[in-house]
Order: sequence, then structure tokens, then C-alpha cells
Amino acid sequence: MRFSDLGLQTQLLAILDELGYQAPTPIQQAAIPEVLAGRDVLAGAQTGTGKTAAFALPLIQRYLADEGTSKAIRVLVLTPTRELAQQVHQSFVAYSQGTGMRSVVAYGGASINPQIEALKHGCEVLVATPGRLLELVIKQLIDLSTLQTLVLDEADRMLDMGFIIDIKRILRYLPEERQTLFFSATFNDEVFALKNTLLKDPALIEVAERNTTAAKVEQRIYEVDSHKKAALVAYLIGANNWQQVLIFTRTKQSVDALAKELGKDGITASAVHGDKAQGARERALEAFKTGQVRALVATDVAARGLDIQQLQYVINYELPYNAEDYIHRIGRTGRAGLAGLAVSLVSHKEKYLLEDVEKLTGEHFIPQWVEGFEPNPAAQESAGNTRRKPSKKSLRANALGQTGNKGKAGKRRRR
Ligand code: AMP
Repeated sequence: MRFSDLGLQTQLLAILDELGYQAPTPIQQAAIPEVLAGRDVLAGAQTGTGKTAAFALPLIQRYLADEGTSKAIRVLVLTPTRELAQQVHQSFVAYSQGTGMRSVVAYGGASINPQIEALKHGCEVLVATPGRLLELVIKQLIDLSTLQTLVLDEADRMLDMGFIIDIKRILRYLPEERQTLFFSATFNDEVFALKNTLLKDPALIEVAERNTTAAKVEQRIYEVDSHKKAALVAYLIGANNWQQVLIFTRTKQSVDALAKELGKDGITASAVHGDKAQGARERALEAFKTGQVRALVATDVAARGLDIQQLQYVINYELPYNAEDYIHRIGRTGRAGLAGLAVSLVSHKEKYLLEDVEKLTGEHFIPQWVEGFEPNPAAQESAGNTRRKPSKKSLRANALGQTGNKGKAGKRRRR
């Protein structure tokens, strides 16, 4: 199938040609005609499938067909993190070049003033994280009464991060008559409940089976004692000569410690987590994307929304407490049809987390040992079968790199 078979007009086809997109991905094939027709959409699709273009292209085309409402917000995209917000905004900018359509991005954890300035010039597309959007709405700095389409991107993640109250408050400011596009990589009861309140007779689109891991990603599990993990990461990167590796840990402490350890072993690494200033995160990402550092060590939340072209290797230094994060993590590789390898280092104490991943994905893994890093059987016996799963609250604080008793507002600001 070609993009021209989907009803896209010449101006957009020329832009896609310039970007080197040769054929639509499955989600684009399924979603573009539905969005063009003005239907609500419920899509089970993860990052890396081309979902941004799947909603951005038809929305740009609808704008071109109906320029009457110029410089009034017609599209609102809500995303869980600032990184994803930026990425979606950049995609809109790239796909709408020369059309006159303007996109603005607004997210927390950065000064609101430049965002207010950008909004003063008017825009048709606003990409925002829920907390910052509410701030703008409450201060009456934006008018959402002209909205035509609401997009919830990575809805599961927004719920995981506790944005449900913000989302419900935002909905009160939106016109009832609108198109709603709902994207989620995973579906649980909470996600189902939200989509039921939002969508009217949606087109159901599922490009991969729900709750399954990205296709073409080889998944390997290495059993190893916790204290040998850093050395094993350095060994795997060095011995295999991997040049660009994204490494996930659970806490900001282990992000910093691992980046430091790798540095000592001669592997250049940068670190991103919720405690780093936006500028520092962007510099770290840039250094990784441009190949100045070989490894990027990140927490789940910090890594959300990172779009790194042709990423081949992901290492789970620790398995996530939330099995759904495993799917998101390994979805960073094998992007847009490329092959990828996801390696998980699992200590004896983490075996129950591996079972959770197996339950969710329906996979059955056969753990392997790496020569020289075999787990110590004595350590396994003493570790026993302790299953200490933390509460949802402490999970979220961990993921955001927070400790102590911070208030809700403090938490939100860091996202
Ligand atoms: P997304 O799932 O929207 O984050 O997109 C993942 C990556 O695939 C991005 O880097 C896009 O630029 C790229 N992409 C999206 N659609 C296509 C396509 N039809 N052909 C080639 N690359 C694409």
C-alpha cells in the first residue's frame, strides 16, 4: 500500500517523500482513513509503530481542507511526559511544513513564560502535558472552545502517572462535540474505563496484539547476581562492540551509579532521570543520539517518549516493578521495522518480576548465564523467595526519582 492510497493529498505526499517515508506503517494504513473521515479512534499501538504520523497527517489534511478557523486551537494532544510532547510537536512541525499550520508545545518542569509567549501568536495544534495544560486553562491563557480533535497519546502511561484527575478536569473545558483519538500501548481496567467515557462509536485499531512486546525484538534474559550487574553491562557493551545502548534502571540512584561505573570501565555514558533539569536531559539525549556517548542510562519515566532512530540495543539493568513498563522499554528498539535486541539482567530476587512479565506478554523465557558472570548458588539460597512488591505510591515516587514526603504539586512539577 502507498500513502496516496489513503486519500492524502499531494502537498502531504511531497512532504512524506522528502522525509523518506516510502510506505505507510500498519497503524497508518488503518488510522489515516478513519481520522480523515472524522471518526473517533481507539488504537492499541506502541511508540515506534509510526502512530504520531497516523494521527498528525490526517489532522493536517483536515486543516488544509478547512482553513476557516485559522490560529484557533483545533487539535489538542495530551502526552504523559515533556519528552513525548516535544517529539509529537516536532513531528507536527515536520509534517506540516509549508502548510501554514502552527504547533505549540507546553509542558511542566520548564518556565511557563516562553510557552505563554508562543501561544500569544496563535496556533492550531497544542501539544501538552496535563498539569501544564490545566495551569494555562485555569489562568485563562488559552481558549479550547474551538477544539475539534482531542488526542490522548500513551493514555496508559498518563494513568500510571496519576494524571486521571487532571484529564477529567481538562475535559470540562472541551466542547462535547469533538473527535477523540485514544492511543495506548497497553490496556488494563483503568484504561478501559477512561476510553468508555471518552469515545463515541470508535474505529477499533490494533496493529499488534494487545499487551505484546514489539515485533522483531529478540529478548534475552541473563541470570546474574546484583553486585555483578554493572560489570556485566560493561562486558556486554565492550565485547559485542555495541555503539548505542539504552539502559533502564528503576531508580535515579542506580542511574547515576551505573553511568559512573560504566565511565570507569571506559564506556562513555550519560544519565537521565526526573531530578535532572530539562536542559541537562536534552544535552544527555543529544550526546547519545549523535554518538558522543555509547550508553544512555535512564529511569522509565525519563526515557518515555525518547525517539532515537535505529536504536538496536536495550538493556534492562533491573526489571521494572510494573510489568507493562517492560513492554514500553523494549519498544525503544526494533523501531519502524528494524531488528532489535533487548537484554534483561535478572538477579535471583527479581525472578518474580520476570514471572510478571511472562504473564503479561505470554512469553516463556529461558534464562541464560554469561561465562564469568554465573550466579552464585549460595546467594540464591540465602535470598529465598522474598516477594516484596512496593506500593503504587512508592513505585511512582521511585520512577520519578523522588524520595521523602513531597506534596502532590511537587511531584507533578517534576514530570
Ligand atoms: P512513532 O511511533 O510515531 O514514535 O514513530 C516512530 C519512528 O518512525 C519515528 O522516527 C518516525 O519518524 C518514523 N516513521 C513513522 N512513519 C514512518 C513511515 N511510514 N516510514 C518510515 N519511518 C516512519
